[in-house]
Amino acid sequence: MIDHIRLVSIIQEIAVVIKENKELLTELDQAIGDGDHGINLDRGFSAVKEKLNGLQNKDCGTILNTTAMTLISKVGGASGPLYGTAFMRAGQIVAGKTQITEEDAVKMFDAAIQGIVLRGKANKGDKTMLDALIPAFEIFKTTIEANEGLNTAATKAAEAAKEGVEYTKTIAAKKGRASYLGDRSIGHQDPGATSTYLILKVVSDFLA
Ligand code: ADP
Ligand code: MG
Ligand code: MG
Repeated sequence: MIDHIRLVSIIQEIAVVIKENKELLTELDQAIGDGDHGINLDRGFSAVKEKLNGLQNKDCGTILNTTAMTLISKVGGASGPLYGTAFMRAGQIVAGKTQITEEDAVKMFDAAIQGIVLRGKANKGDKTMLDALIPAFEIFKTTIEANEGLNTAATKAAEAAKEGVEYTKTIAAKKGRASYLGDRSIGHQDPGATSTYLILKVVSDFLA
């Protein structure tokens, strides 16, 4: 179970890890995009970290919605509205609640992905954040349904996201800026899939 106080800690830790990996994410985006992914996300999550300082006592929906709105207004670039939508959709599942159950977590993860797909019109195999997120969600759901618990589910999800990042090296981008390179994007790992892995790793480390 995750309560609202832990939720704030998790999101603030995501901000710390994004800052630590700012250069890496930017370098990855330099190879196949416009070199701003780390800068974009650090700008957004730093603002989120500040904003959440006053929100520890709010419900999980408000915390996630504030995160979403801040990302949408601060990140810029494709990833801002996409991550923003993901947090917003996840927040709608736990509106007014101060606890997140395993069942909620599955629904939140699902809703977040649906939001990203609806907004960005990408699919698995297009070399985007979805190549980390979708396999992570699939194993997360299966593991929760097998009653193996949130910790195990989150650990397996982070591992699947990592494999998803590796997979993005083998394919050509079909969405986002990297798609302009066509087959020349093969061999490079997707920056957005990488940031997704980092985010899921924080969640898994927190629950371990
Ligand atoms: P921009 O490309 O506008 O500079 P960022 O560099 O912040 O934005 O983010 C790039 C990342 O966004 C990509 O690596 C990819 O994972 C993700 N992305 C781009 N377009 C889409 C899309 N349509 N659906 C899902 N993810 C996408
Ligand atoms: Mg970019
Ligand atoms: Mg950009």
